[in-house]
Amino acid sequence: MRKKLIAGNWKMNCSRSEALQLASAIIASASESSAELLICVPTIHLSDIAKLACNSHLKLGVQNAYWQKSGAYTGEISVSMLEDYQIEYLLVGHSERRELFGDTNDEVARKFSAALECGITPVLCIGESLQQREQGITLEVLKEQCQSVIDLVGIKAFNKACLAYEPIWAIGTGQTATPEQAQEVHQSLREFFAQLDKDVAQGLQILYGGSMNAANAEALLAQPDIDGGLIGGASLKPDDFLKIYSLAG
Ligand code: PEP
Repeated sequence: MRKKLIAGNWKMNCSRSEALQLASAIIASASESSAELLICVPTIHLSDIAKLACNSHLKLGVQNAYWQKSGAYTGEISVSMLEDYQIEYLLVGHSERRELFGDTNDEVARKFSAALECGITPVLCIGESLQQREQGITLEVLKEQCQSVIDLVGIKAFNKACLAYEPIWAIGTGQTATPEQAQEVHQSLREFFAQLDKDVAQGLQILYGGSMNAANAEALLAQPDIDGGLIGGASLKPDDFLKIYSLAG
């Protein structure tokens, strides 16, 4: 039986005091549940938030890191540097990283692999654009995004990873995939993984992301192949985020 994972992606939001306030509000009201609760915070706030989150139910992750361990990579933070903090998750391949910062399938795979090497669970984000959906190539695009990771680390690596299906047209737009649309894709993705390894597919948490909020989460989370949510905007509103968490438990 797969647990549900409710993951917040704060993106590039929150001053230091706002971040501490938001994290404190989440920690104070997050009661124990059968679901897991995660926030992926701006890396600069990690140390402060880690102090607040120790001994709580809240898990921590970050939104990006570089796959090389160290060296002349000005401005980057390596995955291995994050080992010293309490982070359990790393987002890799978010569409904003792919579109705005040029993260390629190959780089995403390397980041995924670096996270595993450091004992951090990678959350592989995949998604199609509106144009690709209209062209009828959604699954092709998603499988290609997964395949480059599988080619580098092997299918068994997904025993220690999560997948997040995030249609690009639904991210930050208020336009959510319907529960049926999302379920159809999640089921196809699970079938794709099952062709390679049935046990891995059965255990794989596949999150939905794209304008999930307190009003639409219940129907999405009720779908058999939707194992949680990756939530941007609504994760910055503690009441909404915690409502989604309570719906998942
Ligand atoms: C995201 O950032 O992954 C996301 C799904 O954002 P939003 O919930 O705002 O659409």
